Amino acid sequence: MDIVAYQLDSSIQLTSRGALQIRGLPVPLTAETQTAVLATGLVPSPSHELVRNVVVSPLTGLDRVGQADLRPLVRDLDSRVCADPELAALPGRFLFTLDDGRGDVIDQACDLGLIATGPQRVTVLAGAARRGWSMPLADAVDLLLGLARDFVRARQASGKMAWHVDELDHPIGPPTDTVCRERETDTTPAPRPLGAVGEHAVVGVPLGLLTPAHLTALVSCTEQVSVTPWRSLVIENGASALPHLAAAGLVTSIESPWARLHACTGSPGCSKSLIDTGGLAQALAPRLPPGSSAVHVSGCTRRCGTPSTPFIDLLAPPSLDAALELITVEQP
Ligand code: SF4
Repeated sequence: MDIVAYQLDSSIQLTSRGALQIRGLPVPLTAETQTAVLATGLVPSPSHELVRNVVVSPLTGLDRVGQADLRPLVRDLDSRVCADPELAALPGRFLFTLDDGRGDVIDQACDLGLIATGPQRVTVLAGAARRGWSMPLADAVDLLLGLARDFVRARQASGKMAWHVDELDHPIGPPTDTVCRERETDTTPAPRPLGAVGEHAVVGVPLGLLTPAHLTALVSCTEQVSVTPWRSLVIENGASALPHLAAAGLVTSIESPWARLHACTGSPGCSKSLIDTGGLAQALAPRLPPGSSAVHVSGCTRRCGTPSTPFIDLLAPPSLDAALELITVEQP
């Protein structure tokens, strides 16, 4: 990815689905750009690239918090989705969410998903209603793929071309009387760590923007990172590199203001914005009053990219002082 970042843009944006987004490219893409992106290996399936949207508990298998290690299941699901021509017709917004039982991703809106209820047991889930099927972990991918095919067929038969399971007129899949509205673990969801997790590392990316300096530091200490849905990266066996990564501007402590500061794209990237949201966030970071609430800066009433947790809403404050005053008023 470093080649792409240096040559095409100054930053790469992390999305809430753990994808990487490069903005401001020419349309259509030049052959050189396409070659550079493909050379990263991040687009392994041209026919299914838009539909292999899978979010999984980022630390699954790396610590002892989850009920099961879902890494083999994710690889199996991804390869079998990509091998099925029918599933290329899934909409690009369709999402699989796989929670290893710690409750960190199960609350995300998803079309199909599962939550582990034991080392070898899961509940497969469909739609916001959370219709569920309890089963051995080994059988889960078969059911997920069957449900995905059911969705594609129901979508095509209805002629409405629904984007999500909840938009279908009828439920998909075999009969079930299980509804799983809440996570099936009896513990509170695991906090989102930053810093060392055993011998591994989790680092935050300020405003979700990976800079060339971040990439240079990452490349010097690892060949592989996992992108979380909440603007951070998991580096397997990366704990010893944390000082180096912190020096490059990545966030290694929950105490950092960047652990709770968010901003939409804003000016100059978004023509709707009334303010330079990123610039305001940069000015705000060293002066952020102590607290635990997330703080989100928006350039207009659309409030793109707001956090999934409760947050202090800074809607286009005209100045740094106005932003600080709003935080003081809104902070619980
Ligand atoms: S919230 Fe408004 S200004 Fe910010 S990125 Fe969305 S549309 Fe643009």
